[in-house]
Amino acid sequence: MAVLASILGIFIILLLVRTYLFSRKMGVLGGEPASVAGIDGARAAESLSRAIQFRTVSHADYDQFDYGEFEKFLDYLVDRYPLMTSTCHPFRINDYSVLYRWKGTDSSLPPLLLLGHYDVVPVEKGTEGSWEQEPFGGAISGGELWGRGSLDMKVQVISHLEAAEQLLREGFTPRRDIWFSYNFDEEQRGSRGATGAMEYFRKEGIRFDSLFDEGGCIVQGAMPGVDPPLAIIGLAEKGCANFRIRVRGTGGHSSMPPRSTALGKLSRIIADLEGNPMPARLTPPVRQMLKATGPEMSFPIRLALANLFPFRPLILKIFSASPTTNAMIRTSFSATMCRSGDAPNVLPLVAEGVINCRPLPGDSVQDALDHLHKIARKTCPGEDYEIDILLGDDASALSPHETDSFEKIKATINRYYPQALVSPYLMMGGSDSSKFTPVCDNIYRFMPILINKEQLDRMHNSNERISLENITRSVGFFRDFIQNYH
Ligand SMILES: [Zn+2]
Repeated sequence: MAVLASILGIFIILLLVRTYLFSRKMGVLGGEPASVAGIDGARAAESLSRAIQFRTVSHADYDQFDYGEFEKFLDYLVDRYPLMTSTCHPFRINDYSVLYRWKGTDSSLPPLLLLGHYDVVPVEKGTEGSWEQEPFGGAISGGELWGRGSLDMKVQVISHLEAAEQLLREGFTPRRDIWFSYNFDEEQRGSRGATGAMEYFRKEGIRFDSLFDEGGCIVQGAMPGVDPPLAIIGLAEKGCANFRIRVRGTGGHSSMPPRSTALGKLSRIIADLEGNPMPARLTPPVRQMLKATGPEMSFPIRLALANLFPFRPLILKIFSASPTTNAMIRTSFSATMCRSGDAPNVLPLVAEGVINCRPLPGDSVQDALDHLHKIARKTCPGEDYEIDILLGDDASALSPHETDSFEKIKATINRYYPQALVSPYLMMGGSDSSKFTPVCDNIYRFMPILINKEQLDRMHNSNERISLENITRSVGFFRDFIQNYH
């Protein structure tokens, strides 16, 4: 008994020591943010306002693009950034994507790639009236710039170009080459724009030191219990797959039904899928996020996060409770579409459903499909069903965060947002950046803007807008980042 008590005592001391070591706050620097005195914020806001006025809306059907607007947008960049044009000689890829190369003093070094997209999602029909300003007007009002693309992501494209144009005016030359890649179909999964740009680089044998794309930003109130704003840098993104399940029925009159119709069977498969998720797991970016934010949290949570081994099941249980955190720890499935039957009194011959799936890094589309088959076989043994893959993109590769390039992003964040806690994270949505895995290992997804959850929810939504302060800081950030990326 005495032996057991002393082992337990040592175990508890060990947990507490690990919690104490874990509790030392290291992430937030504090102090004054870097000055944006040299940044012409009014010019940057005007540039973005004009950029928003081009209706560069992308559609699933490439024939529906209004390519005249894309053409006008690219012409606008030529006029607005004459030094970038004359120094970097922009050229087109697949007609509407554009590449700029800013030659450095040492082109033998692996270059940096600044990535962006200038297509935007449409304003959903019927929601026009809910906008307080014209979605494509680029109005500046109440200290904010309004319009579709102001956040996602014309602000980043304009910030790169404003920063680079200003540096060129001052006679700056980077050490390594810097490439700028602006694509036109990111919102449609980038099968022409980003894919075409990546193929160009692969063919030319260009491998990048690092790539910087949209993704996380500096979010106030992102995590309960964490006071400082959180600067989250995406190291990986979940995959995306669409599965179509077709279940066959007998047909006939509905007055003499079998035990289950095709629609009934499909419904049971969906209900069982919801009740039997794939196993939960803490992937490296999520573990790193917990490590970065844990010291800010209350003692019981710190105790659990500092000692993952015994507390892992509890942490996974807590994460499973909310849709946001649940999506971080497992491959998710959501039934999004369903079609069956033509008349109320006829048994349907077939029921068809679409399941959208987001594979976690480490689970493949095939793993998700196997899970779905297992559920369907168990729910409807011996039944006639089939599953097709309509879309099957695996999760992206995982970028390392213990690299010089990650530290360079972190150092610039520390200068501009010294009050922020920098943390890696796993992106739930997709971006063009994952297309570049064949030409870059260090892919980081981040927008240097300070924003809260409510403002973030305006992305792809009505009243998308950005504060003028964020525009100025974003230009300052990229100016600093380019200057210090040796
Ligand atoms: Zn975007």
